Amino acid sequence: MGFLSAFKKKNITIFIFILIVFLLFTLAYQATVYSAEPPQMRVGISISGSHLELSFDSGYTVINMANGAPLQLPAGRYKLVNTGGGIQVLNILNVSQGVFSGPLYLKPLSSHPSGQAFQVHNAIYGSEYRGALEILTEGSGIRGVNIVDLESYLRGVLPREMPPSWGNYGGMEALKAQAVAARSYALYNQSLQRHSGYYVCDSQHCQVYGGKSCETTNTDTALSQTRGEILNFNGVLIQPFYHATNGGHTELTQNVWSGSLPYFSSVPDPYDDPSNPLGLNNFIVHNHALWQADIPINSLQTLLVNNGYNNPGQVKQINIVSSFPSGRVNELRIQGTAGAVVSLLKERSRTVLGLRSQLYSVQDDPQPRVWIVSAVSGVERKESFSELEGKWAVGGNTMKRMLIGESFTAMGNGTRSQVPYLSFVIEGRGWGHGIGMSQNGAYNRSRAGQNHNEILSFYYPGAQIDVGY
Ligand SMILES: [Zn+2]
Repeated sequence: MGFLSAFKKKNITIFIFILIVFLLFTLAYQATVYSAEPPQMRVGISISGSHLELSFDSGYTVINMANGAPLQLPAGRYKLVNTGGGIQVLNILNVSQGVFSGPLYLKPLSSHPSGQAFQVHNAIYGSEYRGALEILTEGSGIRGVNIVDLESYLRGVLPREMPPSWGNYGGMEALKAQAVAARSYALYNQSLQRHSGYYVCDSQHCQVYGGKSCETTNTDTALSQTRGEILNFNGVLIQPFYHATNGGHTELTQNVWSGSLPYFSSVPDPYDDPSNPLGLNNFIVHNHALWQADIPINSLQTLLVNNGYNNPGQVKQINIVSSFPSGRVNELRIQGTAGAVVSLLKERSRTVLGLRSQLYSVQDDPQPRVWIVSAVSGVERKESFSELEGKWAVGGNTMKRMLIGESFTAMGNGTRSQVPYLSFVIEGRGWGHGIGMSQNGAYNRSRAGQNHNEILSFYYPGAQIDVGY
């Protein structure tokens, strides 16, 4: 009896101990999941010209942050100029409203600042923005910094990363996967502190941000259905690289750049392989998944020299010395008549030659298949070469790589109308580095019924989705 009650007492003590530990864990877990609102972003807005053109309605007030005093500016359109001695505010009639040391702060009066919007008329990537605006001098110019919560910020980012219309064709889960990647990338950029005065810029350097002007229903839905979701690996935010199409095989960071990250893999991706190995219905092959490039042997020398390599002389041969298991090039060797050999490694084998991806093969011998455009006896000929997309057009003294819908003006010297050129023919797959999520692969997976968790766990294996707030 005595033994039994002692046993029970001990059991109860253990039970209470376990209960307390459990409660503590639960509380700690809930604290990390539900405690915070979205963090605030500070986004540097790119403008054309040296002044900032701003409009706001009666829902805002402008405060001089130097002394906290409001400027008493009525709603309307203003021009803000850096005079060297401060920020001058001019009204629509160009009448000065004063020069202020600043920074100035356009403050939304509503308790839901993301529900209001103001305009920056000379912004490059957008025109209308949610939240608040800080206006500060930057060198001899002026900078507007949009202060906006992360979720509202992403509403102006996501439509610039993936076509919102995909949501109408079975791609909602792809948009949601992109939303989680974009949210993680925004926080990752924020932690890098690549800018002073703001966390991220609104150009490709960080993430293109168009503000309220570019929001769409599909991307807003993708964001609200994944609110707060970010990608972590062992509790640390990942670098969620993504690209247009991987051509059928994912890639590791060390095979493109250097240094490995534990949440990427190099495996076949049947949902982004142009040959559609799974025989999926309504399979989407990305427009640029299969490509061919002709590089004139003469232009190779220029490409190498422009990229800081020794001039190998007239190029005789280019060949792939080694590849990775994915098929992406590890080393491309270029041999010239001067005897010099140039080795292009990893990503350089793609970027130096201006190719769409590192996943390609080369025909050993140069082929006579370059397209020449010239003029006769000083007469200018202008033609459209949409069918020659990706080819090189060569004039009397110019050479140019053709893009879709582009026209090329060739000014000949009158002595020749066509110049035969030899070129190396390169055939490749994919567009981009191949690391992390393929957007086209995500689209096919979404259309085949995968949810955004399944899509993300394929492209970022080992990473888990956590709810940041
Ligand atoms: Zn940036």
